[in-house]
Amino acid sequence: MIKSKEIGSLIVISGPSGAGKGTVIQEVLKDNPNCWLSVSMTSREIRPGEQEGVNYYYVSEDEFKQKIKEGYFLEYNNYVGNYYGTPKEFINQKRLEGKDVILEIEINGANNIKKIIDDAIFIFIMPPSWKELKRRLENRKTETKEKIIKRFQTAYREINEVTKYNYVVVNDDLEETVEKVKAIMLAEKCRVDRIEEVYLNSDEEILHEMLIDSKEFVNETPKID
Ligand code: ADP
Ligand code: 5GP
Repeated sequence: MIKSKEIGSLIVISGPSGAGKGTVIQEVLKDNPNCWLSVSMTSREIRPGEQEGVNYYYVSEDEFKQKIKEGYFLEYNNYVGNYYGTPKEFINQKRLEGKDVILEIEINGANNIKKIIDDAIFIFIMPPSWKELKRRLENRKTETKEKIIKRFQTAYREINEVTKYNYVVVNDDLEETVEKVKAIMLAEKCRVDRIEEVYLNSDEEILHEMLIDSKEFVNETPKID
């Protein structure tokens, strides 16, 4: 009866550092081969356990600036002293292949995406409390104390931007958060503005005509007792 656009969604996920964006996204990707996570480029140092081309493409600040000049990025921003950017390449191609594309980017990058991609979906991952955010950032053991403080200060500004997003999910219980993000992605597929065509295929057309022509339905006024 309806044909919906086959283009994949573009899902932008933001939230304070340590809220659990990366962890949630990895879980969403696990059961979803139709989902593709864009790998950003960054000038920040590689963390233990991270891999080139998997977590990021790691470059020097000069190389990053050169890429900006070349128009390599869909969007980019400086976050707590380091550059981060989404390579343009592949985003449209993946969407046209029907894949849902996820961008895990901070709020200024998300604002820039809003200006250039009108059908993007914005999800904000919120920590359950400041105390828990601090605990997660410290437990992750990936940043120095100074960097943790800077990320924490940035989190105050980020949380004030939540109303610019379409959805907010509090990442308390991980399993529940993942279910909610998946549910949002599924619901977005049912939006009426994704409908390309409403049609009657031949069998349905015959049935439709039979019903219209049927005497049972013509000139029959319901009786009210
Ligand atoms: P982000 O990508 O937002 O910076 P991470 O995904 O790296 O955050 O998560 C930060 C830390 O919090 C990690 O050590 C991760 O294992 C942990 N974490 C993520 N989600 C939860 C959760 N729901 N409950 C408890 N710990 C979590
Ligand atoms: P981290 O250093 O913790 O990996 O990332 C720091 C912040 O940069 C996170 O909020 C993350 O979402 C954001 N980020 C990662 N990649 C990009 C990107 O390509 N563009 C923008 N604008 N932000 C990004």
